[in-house]
Amino acid sequence: MDKARILIAEDEPQMMGILAFALESEGWAVLTAYDGQQALDKVVAELPDLLLLDVMLPRVDGLEICRRVRESTTIPVILLTAKREEEDIIRGLELGADDYITKPFRPRELVLRIQAVLRRSGVGKAQAIVEVGALRVDGLRYQATLAGAPLELTATEFRLLSCLAANAGRAVSWQALLKHAWGLENWEGGKEMVKTAIYRLRQKVERDPNDPRLILNVRSVGYTMPSPEESGDQTATPL
Ligand code: CA
Repeated sequence: MDKARILIAEDEPQMMGILAFALESEGWAVLTAYDGQQALDKVVAELPDLLLLDVMLPRVDGLEICRRVRESTTIPVILLTAKREEEDIIRGLELGADDYITKPFRPRELVLRIQAVLRRSGVGKAQAIVEVGALRVDGLRYQATLAGAPLELTATEFRLLSCLAANAGRAVSWQALLKHAWGLENWEGGKEMVKTAIYRLRQKVERDPNDPRLILNVRSVGYTMPSPEESGDQTATPL
C-alpha cells in the first residue's frame, strides 16, 4: 500500500513543523508549500492526494487557492483557519473545500479528519495499481491493460493514462496533464500537445476513438476518466 501524499500549505514555520510531524507520524508523505503560489504550483506538479490549506497565506490567499484548485481538480481540501475566520470557513466550503479545522487544534483531531476525507475520496488503497473498470494501470511496472489485454503505450501516453485513471471521476486540467506527462508548465502550445497526445491515446484505448467512453473532454478544462459507477462500466467491454 502506497502512502497518501499530503500537501501542507502553511506560512508559519512552527505550525508547519507541528503539522508535518503529526502527519508523518501517521505514515503519510508530506509535501510543503510556504506561500500560496508554491501551493498552486505543487498541486499541479505533484498531484497530492489531499491539500491541507491555511487560509491566511502570503502571495495567493487560501480561498483563492481553493477556488483555483477546484477549477482544475477535485483534490480534497481541508482548510486551516483561526476561530475568528468564520466567514472564511463558510466561503471556503462554498468554494468546494471538503472540511476545515480551526487553530488551535489537537493533532489527533486533525488526523481523524484527514483520514475521513481521504476515505471519502478513495485514497489510501493501493496507489501503485489503479483500476478503473476494465482498465488496470500498474505504475511500478509502467504497464497498462484493458480487459486483460496489454496496451502498447509510449511513456508519455502511459503517464497521461495513469494520471487520468488515478483521478477517475474528477476533471483533470490540461495544464495538470502537461505537467504530469512532460514536466512542463505554461508551455506555449501545451494545450495542443496534450490534445494531440490524447488523440493518439484514444486510438489505443477506445473501442471507437470518435465516440470515447474512457477519456472524455471536459469543456474549457481538460479531460476526465469517468469512474465505473458514472459510466455504467462501459469500459468493461473488451476492445
Ligand atoms: Ca498563515
